[in-house]
Amino acid sequence: MKKIKLPADDSSCGWFEILPPEYRQHLSATTPVSKKEETDWLVIGGGFVGTAATRRLAELNPEQRVVLVDAQQIGHGTSGRNSGFVIDLPHKGDLEGPDIQRKKKFIQLNRAAISYMEEKVNQYGIDCQWSHAGKLQGAVSERGVKFLEHFQHLLKELDEPHQMMDGQSLKHKVGTNYYEQALFTPGCILMQPAALMRGLLMHMPENVTCWEETPVLKLERSAGGKWIAKTSDGEIHAKNVILGTNIFTEQLGFLKSRMLPIMTFASMTRPLSDTEFQAYGGTTDWGLTPADHAGTTLRMTQDRRLIVRNQYRFVPNYGSSAEDRNKIHDLHRQAMVARYPMLKNVSFENTWGGVCALSRNYTSFFGELEPGMFASCCHNGVGAARGTISGKLLAELASGGDSELQRHMQEVSGIPARVPPQPFLGVGVRARLKLAEWQSRSEV
Ligand SMILES: Cc1cc2nc3c(=O)[nH]c(=O)nc-3n(C[C@H](O)[C@H](O)[C@H](O)COP(=O)(O)OP(=O)(O)OC[C@H]3O[C@@H](n4cnc5c(N)ncnc54)[C@H](O)[C@@H]3O)c2cc1C
Repeated sequence: MKKIKLPADDSSCGWFEILPPEYRQHLSATTPVSKKEETDWLVIGGGFVGTAATRRLAELNPEQRVVLVDAQQIGHGTSGRNSGFVIDLPHKGDLEGPDIQRKKKFIQLNRAAISYMEEKVNQYGIDCQWSHAGKLQGAVSERGVKFLEHFQHLLKELDEPHQMMDGQSLKHKVGTNYYEQALFTPGCILMQPAALMRGLLMHMPENVTCWEETPVLKLERSAGGKWIAKTSDGEIHAKNVILGTNIFTEQLGFLKSRMLPIMTFASMTRPLSDTEFQAYGGTTDWGLTPADHAGTTLRMTQDRRLIVRNQYRFVPNYGSSAEDRNKIHDLHRQAMVARYPMLKNVSFENTWGGVCALSRNYTSFFGELEPGMFASCCHNGVGAARGTISGKLLAELASGGDSELQRHMQEVSGIPARVPPQPFLGVGVRARLKLAEWQSRSEV
């Protein structure tokens, strides 16, 4: 069997490390795949897309078997290691352009995701710091302020509520006067992503079987038309397959040379002590994204942990080395101490990376690749909301359903543009990332 690249995320994700034992433990249903398993539906990949698709398939087809497999423990992949913003208003590209109806579709899709996720969080009592905290977008420099003013103009066009805050009022909330200005929008959710993913998995419908740490090594079609997923121990024969494998979709033979594997990184402190919290002087439970996309994302969690995210790397092998992460740890410390000199003695407990799929034309894929083979991927680094709703709608599409929201998803999706072959790709992407980093240097 030809060897494919498999997910191999580092084991230093802070969100996963702080999970309570009942959320961390392996599922009792996790048994090895026997020689040959038969299923109606196979979902590969247990991130936002795959878990939402699995649940919806099981809800719509209660008499049928749904199998979910992931190469790693669910919650260990990118969906469990992001910054935990479930955005309602898209960050950038999706709000540009003259087509107001198209922009409204994106927002409607994101809000449908938030409602669906919130319904499950409440129904199952998932303890994941789910909060209607909203989102700050912070500008450090004049360049950042210009981005905020442009974003404000787009929000006014859409009649979306927002509030511009000056540096002083922001300081009361986030404890630093590093920022010149911020734009607050109320509809974003903050959450603990690993806890959300584990909690969702622990409450799957009864007709779902899940195998974690079970990579699919090859996908092929049998003479009878079924799909066969080969694992190291056996085969899963399925009438229909949904791929929730994001960048790894190309390794399974689909959408090759259409996605850019980009990694970004985060670091998390321990909870601040009472004295440190007083010295910091801000509040808990807020999240701030940068006005300029190559800048720094910050979060203060409900349990007083500070999180810093920045840096992008082109990762053709989908991974990072401990040496890379050590360097990034130091860059994160610089960003933290520049904002919070009073916390210079608070160290990070964890620094980790996660791989995302970006497209050159800022377009995601949603739909049927071949008869019985469906996928949704390439959500350009903001997959919490879009990944979730696309997974749910993909299950509905695959089950023969039709809805206005499903049509909206089809209308705003397309084919990610082809990327040039290596080594041109690596040279080009690295140069673009360097330029973006240099242009946004004041926002990092
Ligand atoms: C540090 C960081 C911060 C981020 N912050 C945010 C944020 O605040 N908000 C936001 O919306 N987005 C954020 N993102 C991006 C977001 O996490 C991704 O867009 C999202 O996780 C993509 O979800 P997905 O389900 O498509 O794919 P993934 O989460 O990548 O899931 C794919 C799954 O497929 C599995 N898999 C792959 N290949 C195989 C195989 N052969 N066999 C079996 N299983 C396989 C993987 O193990 C993985 O679990 C961030 C990302 C990072 C790294």
